[in-house]
Amino acid sequence: MKRLPLWTGLSLALCLGACGKPGVDAKRIEAAAAGEWLSYGRTYDEQRFSPLDKVNRETVARLGVAWWAEFDTDRGQEATPLVADGVLYTTTAWSKVYAFDARTGKPLWSYDPKVPGEKGADACCDVVNRGAAIWKGRIYVGTLDGRLIALDAKSGEVAWDVQTTDRTRAYTITGAPRVIKGKVLIGNGGAEYGVRGYVSAYDADSGKLAWRFYTTPNPKGLPDGAASDKVFREKAAASWSDGVWKESGGGGTVWDAITFDPRTGLVYIGVGNGNPWNHKLRSGGKGDNLFLASIVALNPDTGDYVWHYQTTPGESWDYTATQHIMVADLKIRGTARRVVMQAPKNGFFYVLDAKTGALISAEKFVPVDWAERIDLKTGRPVEVASARYENGQHSNQMVGPLGGHNWHPMAFSPKTGLVYIPAQHGRGNYADPADFKYVPGTWNTGMRPNPAGPSARPRPPAAPEPRNGELIAWDPVTQTKRWSVDFPHMVTSGILATDGGLVFHSAMNRFSGYDAASGKRLWSYDIGASAIAPASTYEIAGEQYLALMVGRGGAGGYDAPRQPGRLLVFKLGG
Ligand code: CA
Repeated sequence: MKRLPLWTGLSLALCLGACGKPGVDAKRIEAAAAGEWLSYGRTYDEQRFSPLDKVNRETVARLGVAWWAEFDTDRGQEATPLVADGVLYTTTAWSKVYAFDARTGKPLWSYDPKVPGEKGADACCDVVNRGAAIWKGRIYVGTLDGRLIALDAKSGEVAWDVQTTDRTRAYTITGAPRVIKGKVLIGNGGAEYGVRGYVSAYDADSGKLAWRFYTTPNPKGLPDGAASDKVFREKAAASWSDGVWKESGGGGTVWDAITFDPRTGLVYIGVGNGNPWNHKLRSGGKGDNLFLASIVALNPDTGDYVWHYQTTPGESWDYTATQHIMVADLKIRGTARRVVMQAPKNGFFYVLDAKTGALISAEKFVPVDWAERIDLKTGRPVEVASARYENGQHSNQMVGPLGGHNWHPMAFSPKTGLVYIPAQHGRGNYADPADFKYVPGTWNTGMRPNPAGPSARPRPPAAPEPRNGELIAWDPVTQTKRWSVDFPHMVTSGILATDGGLVFHSAMNRFSGYDAASGKRLWSYDIGASAIAPASTYEIAGEQYLALMVGRGGAGGYDAPRQPGRLLVFKLGG
């Protein structure tokens, strides 16, 4: 064994007292020091619950802006700011990364990956980025043009930069990487345009590909040399029939949820919709089409398949299950259960056993009329007769392609036992096209445009066109709504819950703090533009801060007047 020079030992010993903590690693993320926000969902379980309580029901009225920063883009801002060792890291539209002194707001460095502007045409839902990852002195970011980049956390210098996608196809990355057991996991988007979804793991040190798991079969029936080969050979490929997927790749992109549970040792990925959306075109109307619209549990060391739960078999409506996956401890019928929870687009709230994937319960969290219920024996939805828009009919149904819940993260408070969901109410029209030809790189959903027009079956008269949003406090044990707040517009922000008994959420230009138990609004601030991102919170020198990215965009579109993106940081007396 090589001996370390004396000065190294000395400086290490000194650093224990004077140089702050060692780099962010698994231990630190799992210990989840109250004052920091080290991973996308704060901790690996992605509960987005902070134990900080200085900002609480009594003090929240004194919350004001401590510092702020303005960015060079007016496109959507979706990032969760991370905080480690006194530095705040955030990302903006166009996959740029910024580091600030978290107490003063002093800019430390910024990094522009120089994503080609024309790549914006491949993004279904704006040129957004949902955040970075921190690991051992480095910051990791996925870029809209499909790269994964490691930066030095102190300087912003590039350590490595790898292309994770085929640049000739409409792949994008908008999601945050997660670093699990020394590997950086990243997915991608583009299912509307025709790509084949997968998640990849790269060695955090070297940037070398460690494993890849595809979510749809190899179109030529060949092995990919990937971790997913075995499960497709043994069972998943048989769930597909002949259809357009052989040209398009079938979709199934993993563009958001990647959640690790150190207790089960599993990583859970959320898989998106099919390409085309239309199951009849995609797969001849036959088969469940694994692993579309599924939660898939993998071994994070190897990428090997462990279990899956498919929320929407034979997906045909853009009902992705990429939405936020969180892990929690619940007491269900007197028994302690480790569970995985998700509110995917299809409008049902799912509670699954984290170890086995067994369905525990599933209920509608918004009004849903495409399915009556989820059969607890089979785990499958009981669809209504018209949902699959057959025989030239179209289906106007709840929910539509924007979903009952989209990417905007939920939060779970172990104190109240409630999950806070930024829910959406909106119908969708679905109909077969008169003719369809798959054109690579273009919008290939396989739907008749404007199906509510004269050529379509008239919409049922009893079906209004709700386009509103709702902040729901959901009891995941009883699967019932505890309280909710309505908004006149559909898309609101992600959510933060804290041990101050508060829930923070933005709707249009108001950032508000609610009593987590009752839903009473206790504080609200005019942020001058609207926010869709969730806030994060941290503590430095005894003061609690809240950080929020402000900037409209994403799937909800843009509102006039446009404003430059901003980072607002709040504290008591700010
Ligand atoms: Ca989609």
